Amino acid sequence: MSLIGYSTSMDSTRRIRLLQALEIDVFRPRHAETVRVDLDEPAPARIEMTARRPDPVPAPTPAAQPEFRPAPVAAPVAVAEAYVAPNDWSGLAAAVAGCERCKLCKTRTKTVFGVGPQSAPLLVVGEGPGADEDAQGEPFVGRAGKLLDEMLRSIGRSRADNTYIANVVKCRPPGNRDPEADEVAACRPYLDRQIELIRPKLIVALGRIAAQRLLSTDAPLSKLRGPVHEYGLTRTPVMITYHPAYLLRSPGEKAKSWADLKRVHRFLATGEA
Ligand code: URA
Ligand code: SF4
Repeated sequence: MSLIGYSTSMDSTRRIRLLQALEIDVFRPRHAETVRVDLDEPAPARIEMTARRPDPVPAPTPAAQPEFRPAPVAAPVAVAEAYVAPNDWSGLAAAVAGCERCKLCKTRTKTVFGVGPQSAPLLVVGEGPGADEDAQGEPFVGRAGKLLDEMLRSIGRSRADNTYIANVVKCRPPGNRDPEADEVAACRPYLDRQIELIRPKLIVALGRIAAQRLLSTDAPLSKLRGPVHEYGLTRTPVMITYHPAYLLRSPGEKAKSWADLKRVHRFLATGEA
């Protein structure tokens, strides 16, 4: 089950209203002391204070109290995924273009939806847009993208023809940091819907972060690279290979990358790895 993460800046009242609108239980403890908050979960400052440190100062006299003080409300630790992404391409693209489901929306220039034929047999998944992609709104258009295009061309594939390219998050993580778990979870319904609409024969995840996030694992790339994995209810086959940005830094690994590409080609041609 995926979980939603919330941005720290989301106003608590708005958050509660949203959760109520989605018919998700909001816990309203009677006493602040009983509040149990996962400290890893972003919570509005007012609530964090209450949850972490019960106020040691004696209560002010009634006359000094403000007339209205809303009861403290615990932030939900995590809620079941309630968002249903549009199930058609134009609705999905519009939803991503205006998306504010995670904090990456505050720093992005353009959302990067994905590119390629909508019924491509191969779906390539990267980690997230970089600076060039953020500026242009298309995945893999920088140096790593040029190398990816060459890699694909070597096995008769291209984004123009037979390969769809997307990322696990659609907005650039600032400074090219790794996308965080809450961002990946918030963005997951979009990628899931893309996979459902494309119905690729094979997904290839590029690099450790994309592989770990896609497969929800902490296993190292060395372990993930060999076997054919499966994704989602459709059990779509998934192969893992090196990220082209890594290959630019470590050209010595290109031979192993080529071996992976040949397996990708064989799998698409024969259904066997
Ligand atoms: N790196 C990625 O993982 N994705 C892009 O779109 C560009 C660079
Ligand atoms: Fe929305 Fe995904 Fe962008 Fe976050 S990264 S704002 S979930 S499109």
